[in-house]
Amino acid sequence: MLRSRFRRLVLTILAVLLLAGEDSAAARRPQAHPPPPPPVVSSDTRLLVVAPHPDDEVLGAGGLMQQVRAAGGKVRVVYLTNGDGFRDGVQLEERDGTPKPKDFRGYGRRRQSEARAALTALGLGENAATFLSFPDQGLCRLIRTYWSEHRQPYKSPYTRRDRPPPNETLVADTEYRGEDLTQELARVIGEYQPTIIVVPRKEDQHPDHCAAWYFVADALGDVQRVMPDYSTDVLNYIVHFKDWPFEDERSALSPPPGLSGGASGWIRVPLTPAEMKTKRAALARYKTQQHAMKWFLDGFVRTNEVFSRPAPARVVLPLKRSPCC
Ligand SMILES: [Zn+2]
Repeated sequence: MLRSRFRRLVLTILAVLLLAGEDSAAARRPQAHPPPPPPVVSSDTRLLVVAPHPDDEVLGAGGLMQQVRAAGGKVRVVYLTNGDGFRDGVQLEERDGTPKPKDFRGYGRRRQSEARAALTALGLGENAATFLSFPDQGLCRLIRTYWSEHRQPYKSPYTRRDRPPPNETLVADTEYRGEDLTQELARVIGEYQPTIIVVPRKEDQHPDHCAAWYFVADALGDVQRVMPDYSTDVLNYIVHFKDWPFEDERSALSPPPGLSGGASGWIRVPLTPAEMKTKRAALARYKTQQHAMKWFLDGFVRTNEVFSRPAPARVVLPLKRSPCC
């Protein structure tokens, strides 16, 4: 009896020691953070997608846009440029020597009509699109050098324009200046009051995409100064980062290797097969881009889309140094 009681005592001590060991091992393991919450999609959602060029909105958020629409929410896309400074693309379409300003302008109009067709393919009306017609390949110069009317506005070396066509401005007398682009965006955000804004990340390696983030952050600051109670869920997407994602042939879209998910961590929004099919159909409407780089567009039709949320940032333009070019 005594032996058996002693044996039980030894076993109990061993069990306690083992449990204590497990506890300290658990304490040493890194804490698993819960995944960041996905964007809230409901009939109250008002999604604004900011596209530096026509096609970026579908590449980055073509699935999310469908989900908002299916939930009964509203979707709008604001195109900062018409993608009319894509010399290789214009040359592919023209094939008669050096493209002239009218060829670049015509290419931009074509991309605008492709954008309307793409939005129709996603189930959206034509009034979902707002074209600001700012200069393709020129946005990053507007952050600093061409910020204010202290100097001549920026002139596109492609279209030879220094302002958008008058029927495509929201604020009177808009020219190719940074402060004018901020005002145009603030007008869009202030009137629509999106609950979600999807905009490229500042780490996107295309200067227009990087600049898009700074202009949206600046415009958002302006809106919030006037409407202090307004807040929105800002999500970042990424299109250009080294050779991502076309080097990766898996069906799921992983975040770009070497780029951290930042303050929020990466947010994966899964797409159904039907949503993928519709996303592919929307991208097919971009005939000029399919012609120039189908392989690149195809890389974004996956079983999910990836986003991240930026750390709270107060961006006030102009900056002393353009971070994008
Ligand atoms: Zn782009």
